[in-house]
Amino acid sequence: MSKRYEAMVLSCMDPRFQKPVHKYLKEKKLTGKYSAFTIAGGSIGVTNEKFKKWHSTFWENLETSIKLHKINKLIVINHKDCGAAKIVNGNKKFNSLIENKIHKNYRILGGGSNILFTTNFNGLTIHIANKGISIIKESIKDVIVEISAGENWHDIVLWALKNNLGGIENLSLIPGSVGAAPIQNIGAYGVELKDVFFCCEALNVKTKKIKKFYLEDCEFEYRSSIFKTKEKNNYVIMKVFLKLNKEPHNYNINYGELKKNLKHKKKSIQNISKAIIKIRKSKLPDITKIGNAGSFFKNPMVELNHYENLKKTFKDILGYESENNKIKIPAGWLIEKLGYKGLNFGNVGVYKKQALVIINNGKAKGIEVLKIAKKIQNDVKTNFDINLEYEVNIL
Ligand SMILES: Cc1cc2nc3c(=O)[nH]c(=O)nc-3n(C[C@H](O)[C@H](O)[C@H](O)COP(=O)(O)OP(=O)(O)OC[C@H]3O[C@@H](n4cnc5c(N)ncnc54)[C@H](O)[C@@H]3O)c2cc1C
Repeated sequence: MSKRYEAMVLSCMDPRFQKPVHKYLKEKKLTGKYSAFTIAGGSIGVTNEKFKKWHSTFWENLETSIKLHKINKLIVINHKDCGAAKIVNGNKKFNSLIENKIHKNYRILGGGSNILFTTNFNGLTIHIANKGISIIKESIKDVIVEISAGENWHDIVLWALKNNLGGIENLSLIPGSVGAAPIQNIGAYGVELKDVFFCCEALNVKTKKIKKFYLEDCEFEYRSSIFKTKEKNNYVIMKVFLKLNKEPHNYNINYGELKKNLKHKKKSIQNISKAIIKIRKSKLPDITKIGNAGSFFKNPMVELNHYENLKKTFKDILGYESENNKIKIPAGWLIEKLGYKGLNFGNVGVYKKQALVIINNGKAKGIEVLKIAKKIQNDVKTNFDINLEYEVNIL
């Protein structure tokens, strides 16, 4: 299996840059081939040495970046006080003190499918855009696959299906990047990332050293990991290594609707994936048409006696035995019971087919979405004495 290319793209870019950049790309006949440009790596200096002088060698860096990393897709993320923008606009003074201060404030962005932006951000956005997938170890039973963090998760699922490698078929059609998958231990239809996770390589943003995190280091839990708790924002995941199995595959089809869907079909990882894609498409809004971040809240876990008390009042309440003798209650059930399903509050709505998904009707600001999320949280607390936790990352 051949590796494609590797690149880490750090974008710190002012909107005023875009015109000269596009002009440059046009001159170089790169328009269409390169979607945009980024000043890569300058601010935390994790890529090529050359980038450290980016403020004085801006155009050179553009070319170097394109050549060095063989990048065919660059994504632009802006922030208004970027020093480079000031230089391009005629200010020859580069104040590294100010620049360092701005770039101390950073955030990490994958595909953005699990983030709610509620305020403007004046700082550095680290976007992971490295690509590549290769099998690095193989036995009769399984393979270890090395995947760059910038790959799209669902593309990897499709790649695994094509190569008849099992383990992630139940995680079909989850939006986002591979690098974000360990952050909340993505899961669906009875499978979680931790079930196939071997290790990941992550860059410590402060020390700039790469560290390997094995399964036991990651503290994976339901929609959580060390990267969402103790080490939140301290590491940029650069590569993920998965252990995928060869035939005979282990199928996980206990989920009611999935079982029903596969009743008259041959059991195979490809058919499981097809069924899951069909179910997900029927239940979840299409992110390219309706803005949403998937499940807004985690399913809460309550003590058995709390659940039994609730059952006295709400006879149809759902609950499943979970870790530490706790009962997991579907958050969607609680929200639906309170009558939110399909309701609209101006620009924000609760999806008509799944109450756990808050949708943007087109023009909602992040803060408006958050307001509705808080309202739901308060109502759930008042009526069920349950604290709903956000699954979505609020920025
Ligand atoms: C319609 C829809 C359905 C969904 N269904 C599911 C589902 O079934 N199961 C599930 O678990 N999730 C689901 N999600 C949530 C989402 O798909 C996952 O959380 C996904 O892993 C997010 O990937 P991303 O690249 O978009 O991450 P982002 O939204 O960009 O980032 C999420 C978090 O991870 C951090 N992060 C991102 N990349 C890296 C990196 N390389 N290194 C360090 N930190 C990083 C960010 O700082 C942020 O805190 C769904 C979302 C949508 C919109």
